[in-house]
Amino acid sequence: MADNTPIIELKNISRTYDTGKVKVTALKETDISINPGEFVAIMGHSGSGKSTLLSILGFLDRPDTGKYYFMGEDITSLGDDDLSLLRNHAAGFIFQQFHLLPRMTVLENTGLPMLYAGKKDMKMAAGEKIDIVGLSHRKGHYSNELSGGEQQRVAIARSIVNEPLILFADEPTGNLDSKRGDEIIEILKGLNRKGKTIIMVTHAMDIALNADRIISMLDGEIISDVKTCNWKDADAGGKPGIHLKDIISRPDKMYQKARFSDYMKQAIGSISSHKLRSFLSMLGILIGVAAVISMLAIGQGAKDAITQQLSALGSNLLMVRPGSTRSHGVSLEAGTVTRLTLNDARAIANLDEVAGVAPVVNGGGQVVHGNKNWGTRIMGVGTEHEKLRAAKPVTGRFFSEEELRMRSKVALLGLTVARELFGEEDPVGKTIKINRINFTILGILPTRGASTYRDQDDILIMPVTTAMYRLMGKEYVDYIDVEIKSPEIIDRAKVSITNLIIKRHLLSEREVDSFNIRDMTEIRDALTSTTKTMGWLLGAVAAISLLVGGIGIMNIMLVTVKERTREIGLRKAIGATRRDILIQFLIESAFLTFAGGLTGIILGAGITVLLAKIANWSVKISFFSIILSTFFSIIVGITFGLWPAIQASKLKPVEALRYE
Ligand code: ADP
Ligand code: MG
Repeated sequence: MADNTPIIELKNISRTYDTGKVKVTALKETDISINPGEFVAIMGHSGSGKSTLLSILGFLDRPDTGKYYFMGEDITSLGDDDLSLLRNHAAGFIFQQFHLLPRMTVLENTGLPMLYAGKKDMKMAAGEKIDIVGLSHRKGHYSNELSGGEQQRVAIARSIVNEPLILFADEPTGNLDSKRGDEIIEILKGLNRKGKTIIMVTHAMDIALNADRIISMLDGEIISDVKTCNWKDADAGGKPGIHLKDIISRPDKMYQKARFSDYMKQAIGSISSHKLRSFLSMLGILIGVAAVISMLAIGQGAKDAITQQLSALGSNLLMVRPGSTRSHGVSLEAGTVTRLTLNDARAIANLDEVAGVAPVVNGGGQVVHGNKNWGTRIMGVGTEHEKLRAAKPVTGRFFSEEELRMRSKVALLGLTVARELFGEEDPVGKTIKINRINFTILGILPTRGASTYRDQDDILIMPVTTAMYRLMGKEYVDYIDVEIKSPEIIDRAKVSITNLIIKRHLLSEREVDSFNIRDMTEIRDALTSTTKTMGWLLGAVAAISLLVGGIGIMNIMLVTVKERTREIGLRKAIGATRRDILIQFLIESAFLTFAGGLTGIILGAGITVLLAKIANWSVKISFFSIILSTFFSIIVGITFGLWPAIQASKLKPVEALRYE
């Protein structure tokens, strides 16, 4: 840059505001030229266009017509991001309203432009500038703990922290008493002596007289441009050797981390300063995630319990039941059910393919021992049940063929029943009463654990004959467990059993549906289909609450953006790009939903553990569901935060700064 090149040259600049109703031409075909090192005051009445001119000079606003030459180069048509860079590296701003960020300390406020510049050693540089403005003792104070004069000093420190070429000050003393105002002017004069070019807007002549050149405006036009007695002839400042392209092409990487931690700090600060509001807005996410976590845990627990029970049984088990295979959900016509008897069971047992059968009847009743009383599920079974359903007693013995034939009054207890009636006592050999009939206890069944809806150990088993004829008064069995000799002949066995029953019950062809034979895979499917239905339901609950939660987040983020319009304006003025603002608000909303999700996970896990403890359900919290919930809550934050963040990033710096 040659010494006589102006640092700033405006040619024929106009700016018209279109408010919809009227058009205000705030700046009319203005020319201006400013040399490096000058201290220029722009004067005029309120509304004369001073701020408009300063905004254009300071890359905050664009002229409608005319050309802007900065350091000799035409920058009129630079893009938004380049202008951000220029504001960040070449300009420093001091506003009448100071525009410090309230949740930041003096040091952090001062260092903010360095964040966007991607410079290191922020603390040191910011500290030095704070020393220059005489606030060394207040570095750690929050900006709202300072007086107006002190705040303006911080603003000055911030404006010079990136070593800009030019300082732009819009009524810097406007909100201060004259003594504080004079102090501010002295600081500016000091900076000017050290080489900073300063352009200052003021409407007070005594302030303007501190400058070495006074430009007066009236109705958007420059009416006079005079040098004061301070005028120094020589080119006092400038930064020889610096070119525009050095400023706007400065590499800008690897400092994401510092920015990220600033955004996180801002997010946490903004969330914690509106605790109730933030909590309410993340409630949707919280409930959704808690539901997902606990439902998945319950579903998985049930599935595991079922699988565990079934895998103990081997794969060559069949179940012959009355009723159609379509009996799930579809009602049958009257007379189409084939009832199975003990004789059917015996006949099936005689088939070649069959290794054993165990007919089963189900019922329930009150079991009494001494003064204790317990309602439980009662199953009448055949002797083969011990083997077929892996029910070898843990203590005592199973009933014998003889006892079955004699309809003996003997029973085996599940662990829960034994505990409820006998506590620590050994029940084997003791007598209990069921429906006033005395039963002798033979043994205790192996534990099955709990599935979701039912405690599998809350059961009592007795010979099927005893159950049918002495207790329940049933003529028919509910189903027959059949063990096939080997898994390969299961299909053949099914055919044999079908034919046998058709023959025994004299069924016509269309009555074949009146009973059905299931193998283990079908049994497993039937048991897990409930779990699957639950899975879909839970998916719907999750989707709806995430959607509702997301809308809540979007709403609150829009409010946040509105509230922080001036902060956004300030950040843009000191060099934040659109992308910086976008990312800042995305991080904030993602953080909000992440916090909601995390709380939801903890709540869901709590519910699950409680259910396991109190209702004795078997549950299993899967790592996968936690990862999934975390992932989804962040995704919801980003998705629903996008629109508010875009709104924020699109704000124009000048307008955002003026927002009340
Ligand atoms: P000064 O800083 O000298 O008081 P401004 O540059 O702020 O004057 O404003 C010049 C004129 O432009 C005023 O009439 C003002 O009402 C108008 N003006 C400024 N900014 C806007 C805006 N964003 N929208 C509409 N009119 C505006
Ligand atoms: Mg103004």
